[in-house]
Amino acid sequence: MSRHENNPLPRGSLIGILGGGQLGQMLTMAATRLGYRTHVYAECSDSPGQRTATFKTSAGYNDKAALMQFAHMSDIVTFEFENVPAGTVKSIDDICPVRPKVKALEIIQDRFTEKSFIRDQEIEVTPFMAVSSGAELESAIKTLGLPLVLKTRRFGYDGKGQAMIRDMSDLKAAISDLNTHAAIAEKFIPFEREVSIIGARDIHGNIRTYPLAENDHARHMLAKTIAPAGGNAGLARNIMEKLLDALDYVGVMAVEFFELADESLLVNEIAPRVHNSGHWTQNAGCVDQFELHIRAITGLPLGNITPRFEVEMINLIGRDVLKTSEFASADNVFIHDYGKKEIKPGRKMGHVNRIVRGL
Ligand code: AMP
Repeated sequence: MSRHENNPLPRGSLIGILGGGQLGQMLTMAATRLGYRTHVYAECSDSPGQRTATFKTSAGYNDKAALMQFAHMSDIVTFEFENVPAGTVKSIDDICPVRPKVKALEIIQDRFTEKSFIRDQEIEVTPFMAVSSGAELESAIKTLGLPLVLKTRRFGYDGKGQAMIRDMSDLKAAISDLNTHAAIAEKFIPFEREVSIIGARDIHGNIRTYPLAENDHARHMLAKTIAPAGGNAGLARNIMEKLLDALDYVGVMAVEFFELADESLLVNEIAPRVHNSGHWTQNAGCVDQFELHIRAITGLPLGNITPRFEVEMINLIGRDVLKTSEFASADNVFIHDYGKKEIKPGRKMGHVNRIVRGL
């Protein structure tokens, strides 16, 4: 049992965060509010997370010396993106507790093991098959039918590493792509809506979940979230609780679903971290997802996370971030600019939360 198993981490303790993106930045801000210090470890320098951290390290995820120094300095370590190498997390965990546990990361890093794990919990998941050759792809087409979505097993996000196979003419390109990637084939789901749930489990096994959020994507990237979004909240909560318990998870987790016409839910994917579709919680009048994560991993009580406002979150992609003064003059709109220097098309630069109404 670790030294922090039963008592909250004392104020002033140092929380190490692997990853320096905007999620890391918002975690440092929540941790700072709670009286903790932070240390962001990222591959590049001047990352958004490093701008707001107490300490920063810029080094590779296989830089043993830098990782050991980071681990020895930290009282607890967490991560803000799921592609941190599992070996890196294991080596840190030998020195300092990492939350959530590496097991969750290992399962979720690979879409095939992730979806198999979900199915093993008797949770409905998008029908899928592992494919690593043209012959396996053809057999997946026979079993699952067309259209199919082909996804790389590892390192896919925001629609990267994905191809749609609508008919046999798409097959050739897909097969040549398979030569470089192990993949899964998924049945194409004609969903009504995409919804997600954010929840957390603390070190004692207590669980809290926010209501479902509805997500609109544009060009495979989250564009807008509105929450609370109605839907089958009870089913979503049960699924979240099952997954958190099965993983003996500590921290915030997100589950994305395809909602069908009868409000049944198929899991699309799990994120073992705070998530873009939970940014609305920052201005919902309750403990937000970032603070919830810090509370969960430090052993603080999770608190009340019932939102008092309906909130619409809009991502600021690329040059959208230059419209800040327009947003600043609107009522009930809260700006979250990550301060990224370089504006690139398709880059998440910030988001705004607009309070729609009181609940
Ligand atoms: P993912 O990276 O798996 O979250 O996929 C990105 C987006 O592609 C999702 O949010 C959906 O809009 C779409 N998508 C992914 N998989 C499927 C599927 N099996 N059926 C229909 N749409 C999908």
